[in-house]
Amino acid sequence: MNDSATHDGRGTNPDALPHDPGAPPCDAGIGAGDGTRAVRAGLPEPVRHEPTLPGPVFAAHFHLPGDPTGPYTYGRDENPTWTLLEQAVGGLEAPGRDDVETLVFASGMAAISSVLFSQLRAGDAVVLPSDGYQVLPLVRTQLEAYGVQVRTAPTRGDAQLEVLDGARLLWIETPSNPGLDVCDVRRLVEAAHARGALVAVDNTLATPLGQRPLELGADFSVASGTKQLTGHGDLLLGYVTGRDGEAMNGVRRWRKIVGAIPGPMEAWLAHRSIATLQLRVDRQNATALRVAEALQRRPEVTGLRYPGLPDDPSHKIATQQMRRYGCVVSFTLPTRARADRFLDALHLVDDATSFGGVRSTAERRGRWGGDAVPEGFIRLSVGAEDPEDLVTDLLRALVASRD
Ligand SMILES: *Cc1c(COP(=O)(O)O)cnc(C)c1O
Repeated sequence: MNDSATHDGRGTNPDALPHDPGAPPCDAGIGAGDGTRAVRAGLPEPVRHEPTLPGPVFAAHFHLPGDPTGPYTYGRDENPTWTLLEQAVGGLEAPGRDDVETLVFASGMAAISSVLFSQLRAGDAVVLPSDGYQVLPLVRTQLEAYGVQVRTAPTRGDAQLEVLDGARLLWIETPSNPGLDVCDVRRLVEAAHARGALVAVDNTLATPLGQRPLELGADFSVASGTKQLTGHGDLLLGYVTGRDGEAMNGVRRWRKIVGAIPGPMEAWLAHRSIATLQLRVDRQNATALRVAEALQRRPEVTGLRYPGLPDDPSHKIATQQMRRYGCVVSFTLPTRARADRFLDALHLVDDATSFGGVRSTAERRGRWGGDAVPEGFIRLSVGAEDPEDLVTDLLRALVASRD
């Protein structure tokens, strides 16, 4: 991505990132473009009279005479609908690489927990973001109960470097939710690997079309598929993509032990939704930039953040390591009451949590407690509505919410 590209919210050359020199040419035969990759992601070889994307396989067990050999034995271990989805996600997270493995989970938190709890043991130290997803403090308490030392650092300014010594795992969330700070993944990976620590990146906000953590050197890309990856606000899903076989065996074992598995229907819906990922992401992200530009001119809006804005504190690093800037914009209105009236006055934006869906949502984040944000802080997720309609609705609601 480069600066000239900021006005449509995506890079002019979305495949500009250097590829691993050892990797085969980018998906030869499938096409190198993100749209092509998304519509074909994870499709099986064509079989006459079979559907192009096979339907969900509902099975608790599979026919299994004799010795129990794989791949499909029992429904908590494997399911053919997951396999196709895992191939789809893996193909987007690390195109052209067959040395990576993807595992899908019941939710983003199931995926996150599977990495943390399978990789860490009593006595290990882990570095978590202090400004990350709001369930991480609960995870911290649980890790500490198991004897894991938890250190935290803010996302901005690569502050993690100062607490890395002796850590076994570095967990980063970039861009962070909801603050939209960005850290330098390549730099942090280099420092972590030099100290023998593994690195996991929460890739939820960016989606694999916005950022490919494994190409930036990370060991795991972990995400909630509940958000923009699937984009319709109708299912929960998570995944882990990793390139260290032994570490991934641990993650797989954790999924089996805990049983944090997606239902076949959810897995199939997710796979179906990924076909439109590039369409949704490009539309939503381009509109997010227009919305940010419109909000930037309003006197009652402060603390506006969108990594795609050229003067945003995250812009420089985001441009170096991301291919798209995301669909989330955050900003602060003067008071809690003003923020509530603003949300109330919106017609096209649902007052709801979560983000990444085709229907815009916004919420006053402070209502949950936990995030260190001002009372009037709003997280806005830009959907696939017509940009003019959305900007008009937002500006109208700003006026309507005046005292
Ligand atoms: C939503 C979210 C999660 C958790 O995902 P679920 O699917 O809700 O479990 C984790 N990380 C980030 C950044 C998120 O936004």
